[in-house]
Amino acid sequence: MTQKTPPFTKAQIEKIIKDYPTPFHIYDEKSTRANAKKLLKTFSWNKGFGEFFAVKACPNPYILKILGESGFGLDCSSLPELMLAQKVGIVGEKIMFSSNETPAAEYKKAKELGAIINLDDISHIEFLEKHAGLPQIICFRYNPGPLRKGNVIIGKPEEAKYGLTREQMFEAYKKVSDKGIKRFGMHTMVASNELNANYFIETAKMLIDLAYEISQKLGIKFEFINIGGGVGIPYRPGQKPVDLGFISRGVKKLYETKVAGRGMAPLKIFMENGRMITGPYGYLVTTVLHKKDIYKKYIGVDACMANLMRPGMYGAYHHITVLGKEKSRKSRTYDVVGSLCENNDKFAVDRSLPKIEIGDILVIHDTGAHGHAMGFNYNGKLRSAELLLKANGKVEEIRRAETVKDYFATLDFSNL
Ligand SMILES: *Cc1c(COP(=O)(O)O)cnc(C)c1O
Repeated sequence: MTQKTPPFTKAQIEKIIKDYPTPFHIYDEKSTRANAKKLLKTFSWNKGFGEFFAVKACPNPYILKILGESGFGLDCSSLPELMLAQKVGIVGEKIMFSSNETPAAEYKKAKELGAIINLDDISHIEFLEKHAGLPQIICFRYNPGPLRKGNVIIGKPEEAKYGLTREQMFEAYKKVSDKGIKRFGMHTMVASNELNANYFIETAKMLIDLAYEISQKLGIKFEFINIGGGVGIPYRPGQKPVDLGFISRGVKKLYETKVAGRGMAPLKIFMENGRMITGPYGYLVTTVLHKKDIYKKYIGVDACMANLMRPGMYGAYHHITVLGKEKSRKSRTYDVVGSLCENNDKFAVDRSLPKIEIGDILVIHDTGAHGHAMGFNYNGKLRSAELLLKANGKVEEIRRAETVKDYFATLDFSNL
């Protein structure tokens, strides 16, 4: 059972708010580091195991640096993400570049940084060759189509725009092999926020089997398989975190029989999780501005969907703690809402919470991944600050809040 307890007290947060007004996201460094270490340790039986943190989940250089120090690489999918990786000194084959509908300039930059380039389509072989030249190592993203089910966030693989079909995978490796490439990897990403540990073992099996078939047919050797990200987190109290040990043992067994047993060793196992790495260790802190009593009871806060889009976008559950009222009886039912002129700007719908007063501080849990990152300026909303609760207990601002000046930065009023 997960307990939903923030790593800070009301008194601590009140002190922080004096320097950094709400709303803000705050990330817990200590737990982030411990979690990163645990993942690498769990898979340490696999020589060369790699986790490439999906930058899109939390594209803050201070967080990326912490993860780099922990031994992670980065999964980038755009030019700015590649530049972020470079800024924090994570380059070369510590970067997997997995993009789609990729502009030429992005392939060029990825090649220049020595990243492992993961192609999303068979036609990108020529595109890459023409615009950036072929690298020494190449990877293709596999879309199993009707062979796998997928889930709500990522959709059915059959209807997903990503990757190559099974037939194309054979053709693609043949093509690049004929062009003289000798180092190969294989990638897939078929789940998102998946809590079923077995799913990842099945994914590993799917890639190992396909890599085996292709290597047999073409006489090539694979260096790695990347089973993607998508490991889910327990957003709801009572949900259990995915048992990484279970996945690791399952993959190890496959490795012994299907990899080593078929002469495919050594084969590096890669993952590219975002959510499970930083998600549980981030919190959106917001202050109650208004209470409204109409057909339903509303709590209006100073954060809105621009600070955390998941509830509005997917109806996702994010747990809420009312600071200082952790032990109070949940005697009320509220919708907790932001100020956007869209009725899906609700952090919680019909949520049982303690009686809330104006000025109360709410902590919205599990915002460390796909939280601040999904921010936007619609309705003139400004992105909030990001703070780091450091391992030594101090707080550092790792991204300032946007100001009205930022909002106007792309406009030139002189031609008006
Ligand atoms: C989004 C994404 C990830 C990370 O997904 P999580 O659910 O955050 O683990 C990894 N790989 C690719 C290709 C992605 O698009």
